[in-house]
Amino acid sequence: MPEARQFSIRTFGCQMNVHDTEKLSNLLLHAGYREAAQEEDADFIVINTCSVREKAENKLYSDLGRLRHWKASRPGRVIGVGGCVAQQEGQSILKRFDYVDLVFGTHNLRAVPAMLDAAEHGERSARTEETASLERFDLPERHPAYRGGDAGHAFVTVMEGCDMFCSFCVVPRTRGREISRPAQGILEEVRALVDRGVSEITLLGQTVNAYGRHDVRRGREADRGTMPYAKLLGALDATPGLERIRYTSPHPLFFDADLIAAHGDLEKLCPHVHMPVQSGSDAVLERMRRRYTRGEYLAIVEGLRARRPDLVLTTDLIVGFPGETDAQYRETLSLVAEAGFVDSYSFKYSPRPETRALEFAAEEIAPEIASARLTELQAQQRQQTLDYHFGRVGSRARIRVEGETGRGENQVRGRDLHHRIVNVCSETGTRPGHYLDVEIVEATPHSLIGELAPA
Ligand code: SF4
Repeated sequence: MPEARQFSIRTFGCQMNVHDTEKLSNLLLHAGYREAAQEEDADFIVINTCSVREKAENKLYSDLGRLRHWKASRPGRVIGVGGCVAQQEGQSILKRFDYVDLVFGTHNLRAVPAMLDAAEHGERSARTEETASLERFDLPERHPAYRGGDAGHAFVTVMEGCDMFCSFCVVPRTRGREISRPAQGILEEVRALVDRGVSEITLLGQTVNAYGRHDVRRGREADRGTMPYAKLLGALDATPGLERIRYTSPHPLFFDADLIAAHGDLEKLCPHVHMPVQSGSDAVLERMRRRYTRGEYLAIVEGLRARRPDLVLTTDLIVGFPGETDAQYRETLSLVAEAGFVDSYSFKYSPRPETRALEFAAEEIAPEIASARLTELQAQQRQQTLDYHFGRVGSRARIRVEGETGRGENQVRGRDLHHRIVNVCSETGTRPGHYLDVEIVEATPHSLIGELAPA
């Protein structure tokens, strides 16, 4: 029997992309391929791209330049490009890089095994058509050889696409229109994952808490098999054997009273919410087309904390949006303090093709000013993170082990309920997916340090 051909996937970008890589790996395993231990062994390399920021897009082009040599060094090797840049650029990638064999968009994952087959017979192709079909959610169960992700945890897609069109964001153009997956498929997938040892899930969607909203608004949720998001969380909470439920990324606009209440009522819903705010200034939020004000955002925070006082809140922030004055930027600093974010991902604004914010190009902020703002914001955030971590010293936590720290024998890294990283010296044989009860004894800016708690 000929040996199975081997694949390797490089992933850039958000958790949606990470999960697309997992789905593609699983599809390729089902198609008879094997995951390569290292790229040098691979017959097929895929770059799963991100176009949210210009830097990530440029990285693709430099990576492709270097892969020319990889391909030439062994006959029969195949290069594929997928993800958001592929969706945007399609055929032009094939034209620009004559050694790339296949390009597939964000709706075309299921087509990849057939495209790969064709590529092995010398046929180059690009598939970037968008589809409103629910078929894209029909993916095979985890293959026995699948070893992606971290043990005990799985991402589960509940919706895809985005209809929000924030003025800085390219995602609605690369991921297409919002579509929610029927709840039955979600519940079945979660039950199957639990049967295979998964105890923690993260529900995924570009605006995850918009799940089902179009169907509910049009009164057709029964036909489409969807339901309001809070109800879906309730149904998942009742899954036997499941311990933790998380979700990312929600949009503030879709935090209704039921979702806020769920954070107090549902036992398995973790006390951590990553809720992107982007700016603390109403004027900037309006130009970003975020559709909420600072006051409305803070009201959600207050509602969540009233239901779940130990809730940890994290966020995404952009500084240097065109026209952002110093005073407006300072409103972001003050919001970070007022909302008490425990962590944040912060970036300088980066212009993206075909976005509304390009209209404000004449008001772009000088790069050195944007950089200085980012540095100051991140310093404030670092201090807030550290303060929170210090506040945890002396408390107890239950962590799900993700793996070894690589810093000494039996040192393992896990996540607590609040999604903070906890490093702990464990007993020999503690495997990823195990739960440990620990006492927090030390704090660092990036993690907590624990000791096994006495039984
Ligand atoms: S909500 Fe806004 S920032 Fe988030 S994916 Fe949609 S358009 Fe982009």
